[in-house]
Amino acid sequence: MPIPTFNSNSNNVGVKKAMAQLRDYTKNPVDGTKIFVIENDIRTFHVNTRIEHGVYEGLVVHWELQIPDKYPFVPASGKVAGGFHFTHKHHEHVYGSSGLCTDYLSNFAGMQKSASAYGGWTPSGTLVQLMIAMKEFFAEPDMRLSNSVVQEAFQRNANFKCQKCSGSKNDIYLNSQQDGSKKSDDGPEKPESSLVDNDDAQRRTRARQELICPVIMRSPLDDPNILIGFPVALKRIQRQSGISNTSDRIRQLRFVEMQLFPELLSFEAYMQSLAIEGANYDNIDLARLRSPMGE
Ligand SMILES: [Zn+2]
Repeated sequence: MPIPTFNSNSNNVGVKKAMAQLRDYTKNPVDGTKIFVIENDIRTFHVNTRIEHGVYEGLVVHWELQIPDKYPFVPASGKVAGGFHFTHKHHEHVYGSSGLCTDYLSNFAGMQKSASAYGGWTPSGTLVQLMIAMKEFFAEPDMRLSNSVVQEAFQRNANFKCQKCSGSKNDIYLNSQQDGSKKSDDGPEKPESSLVDNDDAQRRTRARQELICPVIMRSPLDDPNILIGFPVALKRIQRQSGISNTSDRIRQLRFVEMQLFPELLSFEAYMQSLAIEGANYDNIDLARLRSPMGE
C-alpha cells in the first residue's frame, strides 16, 4: 500500500493525529497502562505497561514512543526509556539502540526487511490498540530465562522514577478496580460511622475527575506542579502608535477582544497545543486551540 503524500508545509500532522488518539485513550484508558506526555517534546510519549502474566507478571515496564511525521501511515517507534533496566538479556526482542522489535512498531522494518513489514500495524491503528498489543509483547520474552535474570528486572526497577516524565510504577490506570469499588459502595453493610468520611471521599473523587486536564489527565489534587485553568485568547483590535499619555493608553486597552476557551486545561497541555500550532509566547496569534471536545 503506497504511503499518501502530504502538503509540504503540513508539519506535525503525525503528532496531531497522535494527540487526538491520546485524547481517545485518556477517555477510555487500557487497564494496566498509562501514557505520559513529555514537556517540550511533542513527538515523544512515555508509557507504563504492566505485565499481566508470565514470568514478569506485575512488572511495570517504562518505555518511550516516538511519533513520526507520517503517523499513523507509518507506525511509531519504541524503545525502553532511559534509566529503566530491561534489556536484550531480559527479552529476546528488546535491543538497546534498535529498540523494541515488534510488527506494531517501525523498529521492526529496519531490523527485518521483509515484505510483511508493519504486518501488525495498519494506518487505522490507534494508541489504544498499540497499548493492548504491547502488553502482550512485553509479557512474552520469547527466550529461556534464569530466575536470577527475572528477579534482577524487578529489583533494579523497584524504585524507578523517570527523569523525563516523573512516571513511576504506581502511575497506572486500573479501570476494573475502580468499577469494583463503586459496586461495593452500594453494598448493604456500611457502618454508619463512616458516612461522613464517605461523603468527603466522594467529593474528593468527583473533584479528581472534574478538576483535571483532559489532555494530560493529571489533576492539581494529585500533582502540585500542575496548573489548571480556562485559557483566554486576548486580541488587541487596533494599534495606534504614538500614544504617550497614560489615560489614552488605558483607553486603548478597551479595544480588546476576549475569547474564552471552553474547557479546563493544564498549562502544560496549553503550551503543547501552541507548539503544535507552531506558536509560542512571541507569536501567539498563530495559535488556534482545539478543545478536547473538538470545538
Ligand atoms: Zn518517562
